[in-house]
Amino acid sequence: MSWQQRIGQALETRRERGLMRQRIVNDGGNARWITVNQQQYLNFSANDYLGLSHDARIIHAWQQGAERYGVGAGGSGHVTGYSHAHAALEAHLADWLGYERALLFISGFAANQAVIAALAGKDDRILADKLAHASLLEAANLSPATLRRFAHNQPASLQRLLAAPGAGETLVVTEGVFSMDGDRAPLQALQRITTEAKGWLMVDDAHGFGLVGEQGRGSCWQQGIKPALQIVTFGKAAGVSGAAVLCDETTAIFLLQFARHLIYSTAMPPAQACALLAALVCLQQADDRRQRLADNIVRFRQGASDLPFRLADSDSAIQPLIVGDERQALTLAQRLRDAGCWVSAIRPPTVPPGTARLRITLSATHQAQDIDRLLESLHDA
Ligand SMILES: *Cc1c(COP(=O)(O)O)cnc(C)c1O
Repeated sequence: MSWQQRIGQALETRRERGLMRQRIVNDGGNARWITVNQQQYLNFSANDYLGLSHDARIIHAWQQGAERYGVGAGGSGHVTGYSHAHAALEAHLADWLGYERALLFISGFAANQAVIAALAGKDDRILADKLAHASLLEAANLSPATLRRFAHNQPASLQRLLAAPGAGETLVVTEGVFSMDGDRAPLQALQRITTEAKGWLMVDDAHGFGLVGEQGRGSCWQQGIKPALQIVTFGKAAGVSGAAVLCDETTAIFLLQFARHLIYSTAMPPAQACALLAALVCLQQADDRRQRLADNIVRFRQGASDLPFRLADSDSAIQPLIVGDERQALTLAQRLRDAGCWVSAIRPPTVPPGTARLRITLSATHQAQDIDRLLESLHDA
């Protein structure tokens, strides 16, 4: 088979199953609105939960950073790409979240890949929640370690896997708030049984950071645990992009030697680090925004309770409506768009087969009338 045949066949299979993914060009937007083909929609698909992507303070910090440092880092952090802006952001993050060290990465995807690739050896095992993010499961799959998955949010299932003796070290991997279901991991129980088995817990808090816990410190702070490795990402509540790994001093030094995504990649632009430092201050002061988001979540869940679809058990900004059938999910998303609400249908393989859904995300910038319009459209659709 030639490359062309292989590629053609893969696409054909996708097309037949109605699973083709397509990008949509938007003409601008924010956490509340999105404009596509000159048409304005209410945006219920963004991860910009607090609306910080358009915050004037963060934009200003980015502009000032660019004036001072230029627009690019000019190299890997291991060469000449590591500036005072990066160092200040790392120090602030570590201090705020109660860790010895924070290391910046260009994205959450890269951070997860780098940490797992650097740590996991041949005799080790990675025990991951079945619904953990693609970046975690893929890294675990590519590593020489053995990957086992435990039932979603079931400490007893993890306990059974831990009971089997392992030759090497054990890394338990989960998320704080799950990206496709919006539910929270029972972090205390997971931490306790992982520690009993002398393993390390790694929590990816992409959807909890900035949103839950005192001042938005995230899921681990909220549940009173300090896992060996915590990943926070800045593309969601912080409204920017990038990520950080929080760990102890020795692990940070180890990652600086062995995390290839850090060593062989251009560092985050220093101006972005300036913007992120401003974003952290905004997050710390965002109790009013978090309250508005919480109000929107309650309003949505009350109004959606009598819809003929299963509303996921989520108290987060991620409010999935489980439709089941893939094509029906697509049809529904289209009807909502016709009614002026931009909602994404999420289909397998991103979610398990038979659980196609509308992944509705709410933001602090939505007004009560926006939520009501979405609910009306859902009832009509
Ligand atoms: C979005 C997300 C990532 C990836 O983060 P990026 O910074 O967007 O690369 C990783 N893990 C989870 C759980 C996510 O939701």
